[in-house]
Amino acid sequence: MPDIEKYDQFIDGEFAPSESDDRAEVTFPYNGDTWATVPLGTPDDVDRAVTAARDAFERDNWAGLQPSDRAALIRDVAAVIDDHANELAELETRQNGKLIREMSGQMNSLGDWFRYYASECETRDGDTIPVESKDGEMFNYVVEEPYGVVGAITPWNSPLLLTAFKLAPALAAGCTFVHKPSTQTPVSALRLAELLSDEAGLPDGVYNVITGSGSTVGDALIDHEDIDKVSFTGSTSVGRHIGKTAGENLIPASLELGGKSPNIVFDDANLDNAINGVIKGIFAATGQTCLAGSRVFLHEDITDEFIDRFTDRASDITLGDPRDPETEMGPVAFREQWETDRDYIRTALEEGATLQFGGEQPDDLPGQCFLEPTILTDVENNMTVAQEEIFGPIASVLTFSDEDDLIERANDTDFGLAAGIWTENFRKAHRIADAIEAGTIWINEYRTLTYNSPFGGYKDSGLGRENGHEGLEEYLQTKSVWVDLAGEVKDPFKLG
Ligand code: NAD
Repeated sequence: MPDIEKYDQFIDGEFAPSESDDRAEVTFPYNGDTWATVPLGTPDDVDRAVTAARDAFERDNWAGLQPSDRAALIRDVAAVIDDHANELAELETRQNGKLIREMSGQMNSLGDWFRYYASECETRDGDTIPVESKDGEMFNYVVEEPYGVVGAITPWNSPLLLTAFKLAPALAAGCTFVHKPSTQTPVSALRLAELLSDEAGLPDGVYNVITGSGSTVGDALIDHEDIDKVSFTGSTSVGRHIGKTAGENLIPASLELGGKSPNIVFDDANLDNAINGVIKGIFAATGQTCLAGSRVFLHEDITDEFIDRFTDRASDITLGDPRDPETEMGPVAFREQWETDRDYIRTALEEGATLQFGGEQPDDLPGQCFLEPTILTDVENNMTVAQEEIFGPIASVLTFSDEDDLIERANDTDFGLAAGIWTENFRKAHRIADAIEAGTIWINEYRTLTYNSPFGGYKDSGLGRENGHEGLEEYLQTKSVWVDLAGEVKDPFKLG
């Protein structure tokens, strides 16, 4: 039995015990071994962290930083992340069972988010506004200022990447941060906080991490009176609850939520490429991605051939230890999610779908979290499996012939996060991209994203955008400053 690592909360630049002795176990989904425990924190822990973040926000070594000094500090953060990328990738894999090759890729590019937003510190301009002004006596300019203390809540599927989507722009804006990571994957955030404090020299209190349950720590954080902004990534149902609380408290909320994305293959697509893209969309990361291309729409003329080849390819996927670089699909992240996946397969079959491939737990692998890549055919768009987000390796295959009907069905979902389009006809590709209601569209690609292109959802997939210039705006509020150069108030009873 390996030693179990015991973590504390990270508050004001150091590890600090929780007010509570209750702890959550962190297990390796591949074999179910518990390897760490973290505090199941309390509202008092949250309060200490928010107080530290508020103090840090007001201190000269944060709020008073010049843009170039802030940029230099954020570049130091990036360098420390680069130096520890492999260690962080291993932590991520041990928490959620995702492939080391995926987590290494994520961690080796994580520093780019910080470098990009460091540049924004130095290059972002304010505005001067061409207000109506007789003889040029009136001048108006707009400046941007940080909201203040951010309360951030993240899910388990890409813990640090999704943290960087928030932390990098928040630091660039000049905000401070209290982070509640997922209960399943809290360790990497705690280690990141330690590294940023000890090695990058981030001032105390700028990045605090409080672990614990959503209903206790998460709720205490978003409802804390001294939080100025909420940033959440997770399910649509929890996002709705968080949006309501933020609305009550009249603070802005960025919400990155679930998806049920169509991945559409036309009869003129390069099928080798499209099959790879459909695999990438639904079986990479064991389907546990908000972007999953879980509704596969096939043109009727290629449906039979595509399903045969897709099934062959799925049956060749190597399941195994996520730490092995040869493994193509790891376990589902925890047993409850595995049971959810199986329930969805059962429901699909009851509603009339056909199990084309998979659906079972392979018996030659350890733990209780492996599920074969699963292909369901004969799916109709009104079936549960085509409407609800599953978050597992389950592809629902639908067919189409008419373009208008395809668009109507592709958009007939509460979600609007992403879509894939596979065709060699670029006029058609752009026509469909224009018609699909989603925040990200890929043409002959799937599941790519980066720090400088905005990412977020239409409809119930979210509010606001992360990454790119828009990602920074989520942490800034604008101030419009009027200057009357004439220095004379002409009519005190008139607006303007
Ligand atoms: P979840 O909504 O269950 O939990 C997300 C976070 O919210 C966790 O830290 C959880 O502890 C916390 N939480 C739960 N209840 C809470 C409450 N009452 N108050 C405050 N916080 C609470 O989501 P999950 O299962 O961790 O992650 C999977 C979901 O995340 C999927 O729906 C997926 O689509 C979504 N997701 C979205 C994106 C995106 O960018 N759009 C990215 C990744 C994941």
